Order: sequence, then structure tokens, then C-alpha cells
Amino acid sequence: MKRCLVCDNQYSSSITNCPTCGAGPTLIDGFYAYAPDFAHDGGGFNSNNFSDLARLEEDNFWFRYRNQLILWSIKKYYPVFNSFLEIGCGTGYVLSAIAKEFPNKNLYGSEIFTKGLSFSSARLPFVNLMQMDARRIPYISEFDAIGAFDVLEHIEEDEQVLAQIYSALKPRGIMLLTVPQHPWLWSATDERACHVRRYVATDLVAKVKAAGFHVLHSTSFVTILLPAMIISRFFKKKVAASEDDRAELEISPWLNLLFSKLLHIELVSIRSGISFPVGGSRLIIAKRM
Ligand SMILES: [Zn+2]
Repeated sequence: MKRCLVCDNQYSSSITNCPTCGAGPTLIDGFYAYAPDFAHDGGGFNSNNFSDLARLEEDNFWFRYRNQLILWSIKKYYPVFNSFLEIGCGTGYVLSAIAKEFPNKNLYGSEIFTKGLSFSSARLPFVNLMQMDARRIPYISEFDAIGAFDVLEHIEEDEQVLAQIYSALKPRGIMLLTVPQHPWLWSATDERACHVRRYVATDLVAKVKAAGFHVLHSTSFVTILLPAMIISRFFKKKVAASEDDRAELEISPWLNLLFSKLLHIELVSIRSGISFPVGGSRLIIAKRM
């Protein structure tokens, strides 16, 4: 169902405008925009990063590994889903992996910036893309699964987003989250990425539960590379604050290969049921009751 953001009326998702008050999305850059004020300047993310992302994520160990974890989570916890919404779909890298693994599903992607959607639509012509503010989702009991991958840490009102995801899911639908964790890992990289926070696992789990969810699985990941992250952050603090953000993604091919191999060991462990207590990021899979 759609939920009208003006009068809160609920109506069929096949209808564009609210039948009660007439409110509906505006068309911006060819996309339905539910939060048009933020379409070109959404805050919480530097939209110039999209072109770098689109170029770098394809072969990067971290993005590939996160995709493998996401696909594993869906296969384990909701392989028969029909509809999937990715909030903050960026350049469409995750959605294209889901589309490949699960053909013939109804896939949706949202972004606060229409700029990100342009990258996604070139990659994913068959996905329903919309501009939307995750704090005000125009759907209710609509999706089987909703993913937000490294999105929540950009938003001050994360509890509001979790509550909105809960309402937008169908009963027994699942939410998949990844976030950066451990405040003690906070660095200039987080500041440049417009992060509001790095999470403490217990705080995030408490927020997820407070939104009504039942947590199915919670684990750290990028545990094996934690020493490398700590060293890299310490080293960067010593050097200069002016170095390029992209350095974190643009690593040498041999290091990329080495990290991929190490993270594969970690992936096998997580798949076998191991939950790591520490790691650069956290994965949470939770179910709407
Ligand atoms: Zn209305």
C-alpha cells in the first residue's frame, strides 16, 4: 500500500496520487520525487561521490564482500521474497547483484539524490527507482524485504528511519542493515563521508528492537581486516588531513586480492554461523513481527 505523506491516507500502490487529497510525487530528472526539496542537496552525503563510487566499487574487495554477505543473508532468511526495496541504492551496485541472483523479483531502489538514481537507472532499467527521504517512506505494509546498506550512519534520526522501515514492511518481512561500527574507529574518513556516528552493537540492536523488530542475526564483519584498519587510521592521523578520500578505495591490485582472500575466510565463517564480536562493520537481519 501507498501512504500519503500529506494526509496519511492509505491507498493502492498502483495509484500515483492520493485519491483523498490529490498529493503525490513530483517528477524530477525523470524520477518520482517524494522529497523534492532534498533531490539535489539531500545532506548527509556528498553527491559528487557517486561517479567515483560507480567506477571503484566494481572490483573493490569491500563492496564485493558486502554484496556476498547481503546475498547470503537473503538466501538464508527470505529466499522466497517477491518485493525488495533498497534505501539509499546509490549507483545500483547492490541491486544489480540481487537482480542477478534472484531474477524476476520486484526490485525497488530509493535515493535522496536524483543524481544517484541516474547511475542506477543506466545499470538497472527494470528496477522501480524513486527519490525519497528515508525518514518519510510513502509506503505501508508493502515490501517483503528492505535493505539499507551503510545508510543509517548518515542520518541523525536513525530511530525514525527504523520505525518507517518497520511500517513499510509486510508482516514477517525482513530488514537487512549494514553500518560502520565502533566509535573508537572514528576518523577523518568518517567526517568526509558525512557520517553522524559509528555504531555500538548493543545500541543499534536496542534501536532495532525498539522499532518493533525481532533480531534474527547480528554479527560484525571486516573483523579479519580490523588490525589493518586500525593501523591505516593511526597512520593517516599522523600524516595529514588533506589526503584523498578515494585512497581508501583505490588500493593496489595485489592488496585488493589479498584482502579479498582474507575476507573470503571470514565469509565462510559467518555462513557457518559464527558471529564476530568486533569488526569494522555490523550486519543485522531483523524481522517484522
Ligand atoms: Zn492524501
